[in-house]
Formats: sequence, structure tokens, C-alpha cells
Amino acid sequence: MGLDPKRTVAELRELQQLTGDADGAQRVAWTDTWQRAREWLRGKVAGTRAEETVDAAGNQWFTLHGDSDRALLIGGHIDSVPNGGWLDGALNVVAGVEVLRRLADDASPPVTVRLVNWADEEGARFGRSLFGSSAAAGSMSDQDELRSRTDAQGISLPDALSEHGVQLDSASDASAELEGAAAYLELHIEQGPVLESVDLPLGVVLGTFGVERHQVTFRGQAAHAGSTPMDKRRDALAGAAKLALEIRPIAAEVGAGAVCTSGGVVCKPGIVTSVVETAEQLLDQRHLDAGQLARMLELAKKAASRFAEEEDVEVSWQRIWGIEPILFDASLIELADETVREVAGTSHRLPSGPLHDAAEVSRAGIPTVMLFVQSLRGLSHTKVEDTKPEHLELSVQALDRLADKTIARLSG
Ligand SMILES: [Zn+2]
Repeated sequence: MGLDPKRTVAELRELQQLTGDADGAQRVAWTDTWQRAREWLRGKVAGTRAEETVDAAGNQWFTLHGDSDRALLIGGHIDSVPNGGWLDGALNVVAGVEVLRRLADDASPPVTVRLVNWADEEGARFGRSLFGSSAAAGSMSDQDELRSRTDAQGISLPDALSEHGVQLDSASDASAELEGAAAYLELHIEQGPVLESVDLPLGVVLGTFGVERHQVTFRGQAAHAGSTPMDKRRDALAGAAKLALEIRPIAAEVGAGAVCTSGGVVCKPGIVTSVVETAEQLLDQRHLDAGQLARMLELAKKAASRFAEEEDVEVSWQRIWGIEPILFDASLIELADETVREVAGTSHRLPSGPLHDAAEVSRAGIPTVMLFVQSLRGLSHTKVEDTKPEHLELSVQALDRLADKTIARLSG
């Protein structure tokens, strides 16, 4: 059986029929529909010689043993957000099955090849993304906090996991799976508009953005909307409003893909007859370069202080969450670039705004690279998420060829 990229597209449609509805994909992790998708996947791999195992975090592995125990990993996630798209995560897994089929045709490969379907990449039910990959990568350190998490129905995370054979306390034992892993490849839809805007089907991902997420609180004085003259006001919202606009020139000045979002402002007392006393603003800043990310944060802090002074209010910063940029492996990036040029003529290098399982694997020290395929209109996490079939087919070809090149490198 040679590589058949059209089959991948047909199988993705089949999966959508089986696990989606009129509102989109419904493969939320730790649900019956997710389980059905995993069983479907098991059936697809059954025709190859790959052996299935499920690790302590619920990750589903399919191993094609090679002449050496050094392993090439190909990964994706079959879980989706509620009302999600048909490709996010699933493309990587189903394309990986096609690569396994093609490899299983020949005598055993020189290195072991493993396809992994990571458990709960999206974190849709319990708000904890990258569950399975962080357990395997050894970076899961929030078990205590996860123990008390519940879903919208009040079901606890440990109970939902144990229904699927996973014990939260031992999930980190999944780290044993990465022993022997020598490279990790992940194909994903871009989920953004960049490749479409340059009219290219495929791109090579340089790494995932570092993120700084803060709550910025401006504090002024509540005062009567009728009796307080304009020049006597201490309006907290004025500070937040100025900052919401200033982040644009700051992102432009820092450049190189910098993005910055004022995601919301909560005003108190929040009534039409009062000047705003406190404005709690949510700020999200992202960059691929740690130094530039720090600079962008510094510039925003300086601007906020200046606006606070201008408006006679106070400002304070509270860090909500952050992560360092994660850069993929330089030599695998070159190999991926060469592959994309061979398959599609022209390559394009770009960072990833969203996090991916690949970031966790890379953090664990395993040489990693990702391929992106164009997303139509840049949309994802919605039923209208789509990619042209011919681009999907090219992406399967590229993943297959990159796997071959990586195997050659690992065995050379
Ligand atoms: Zn995804």
C-alpha cells in the first residue's frame, strides 16, 4: 500500500460523520464521543503492524517497531472543542496513520516509529490544555489544583479521568513513553490567516509564542456623573482606554510578529450615573523572542504609568499567567523547509500563536518541528473551519516525506 493522501481526507470526513453533528465536531476529551473516536482510530491502525498501548495519562500510542529502539514520534490530538472544526488535531493523527501504513509496507524501518494521539489537548471540559502531552513531557505540576476542578455539570476531573482508566495521581508516569524518543513531528492546520495571505499551502513552524498575561487595574474615584466637572474627575476607565489603544503602536514598534490584546475591561461601579472608580483590564502579549516579549511588557507598563498620571488615577499590575517562547529544533526546521519546497515549491516560516502538544515535547528536550497547512479565512474552533482538499493532500505528502528524511537522519 503506497501513500494515499486522498484516503486521509476521506477518513477525516468519516470521522466527522461519526463524531460530529450540525454544530461541528463534538470530540471533547473524557466523553463517550471522544472514546468512540479513539476506537475508530484503533480500527484504522489495525491494518498496519503497529501495536497499540495506552499510557498512564490516557495518551494512545501506536508503535511500529524498527531495527533500533530510537524512536521517531508523530503526534496529534483527536479531541476537539465543543462545536469544533473537523481538522484541528485530527488531521495530524489521521495523516500519521497514512504514514504508518506506508512504512508498514516495507521491511521494518531502521528506527522505531510511533504515532501518538495525545489526550485532552484542548482542555475544553476542565480548562486544562495539553493534559496528556504535559504529563508525558514531565512538566505537569498542577495535580493538586486539578484535583478540585469540576466541569459545568459538577463532575470532578479525577472522576471523569478514572471513567476512562486514567488516575490523576499517576498520570505523570506517562513520561516513560518519551525514553528513546529522538525526534517529534506534528502537522497541524494553521488556525490563522498568514499562509492564506501569502497564497501558500504549507509552512514550517519556528516555535510557539511566549505569553505574558496580566490584569492591569486602574483605580480612581467614583463621583456623581452630574455634579463632577470634567476637570475634577479621576476616571479609571480613561487610563484603561488609553492603554487599549497604546498597545497597537507598542506591538508595531517591537514588531517581528508581536501581538497584544486588551481582552476585556470590567468597570466598577459600572453604572451610567457614576465616574468609573476601578477598571480591571486583561492584557495578553505574545512574541517568539523572550527579550522582545519582556520589552513589550516594559513598554506597556511605562505607558500605563504615564496614563495613570495624566488621569490622576493609580495603576497596579498582577501577572495571571505566562510561558516562555518555545523554539523548535533548528536542524529539523531546515529539513522541514526542504521538504515543503520539494512538495509545494515554496516554503514559508512562521511562528505559532496557539500552543500545541509539540511545545510540551520540545520543552522535554526532544528535537521537534511542526508543519502548518493553510486554514481558509484563518478560522478554527468553529464548524466553519476548513482547508482545501488539495492542500490537505499536500500536507499528508509533506508529513510523509519529512518522516522519511528524519528516519534517514536518525539512522545515519
Ligand atoms: Zn489542535
